[in-house]
Amino acid sequence: MDLVHPPPPPPPTNPTTAVTPSSANIPTSPTTGTTSSSTITTPPTTPSRYENQKRRDWNTFCQYLRNHRPPLNLTLCSGAHVLEFLRYLDQFGKTKVHNQTCPFFGLPNPPAPCPCPLRQAWGSLDALIGRLRAAYEEHGGRPEANPFGARAVRIYLREVRDFQAKARGVSYEKKRKRPKQKVTTSTVTVTPPPLVPDHHQSAPNNHLQ
Ligand SMILES: [Zn+2]
Repeated sequence: MDLVHPPPPPPPTNPTTAVTPSSANIPTSPTTGTTSSSTITTPPTTPSRYENQKRRDWNTFCQYLRNHRPPLNLTLCSGAHVLEFLRYLDQFGKTKVHNQTCPFFGLPNPPAPCPCPLRQAWGSLDALIGRLRAAYEEHGGRPEANPFGARAVRIYLREVRDFQAKARGVSYEKKRKRPKQKVTTSTVTVTPPPLVPDHHQSAPNNHLQ
């Protein structure tokens, strides 16, 4: 019978059928295909203050690695190197931290100047480490190898917090329960609070425990 008789295939080139969407824009649109400016839609990223700060911090850390003697690659970075970095930052600090031998040790408002060093406040370091920890993984670092999440770094931050609380006579425990920044509470402002506070009135950090 006619079972083995195949139906005639459609003609491969039919000039009248120009309605197939796959070949619609091939012949008469030379601009498509190579120009990508029209197709890329810039995402509506409004870089927040946190993101900007995180980028600056990351650049600072990478610069620190480049200037390190001996040179230090990011992949070889450990918690010990992060501690080196934090101590290096202390020279740019603005927070007076009294030595235990200073007569003003433990006084919140010393009556006279003293030669004790200026250091980075614990709250600044804590927030910095949080940003760098996130930036490390955003740049392809593995979470389990994140030097900013190292145990040594957590211990160091806790020690800095405890010592600065004693040296400056400031109890971080009280401050976190009773924030004293109540300047504009009467007016209804819709500005959201910053994601990470820069100062030592920080949110409770459970990772320190
Ligand atoms: Zn002092």
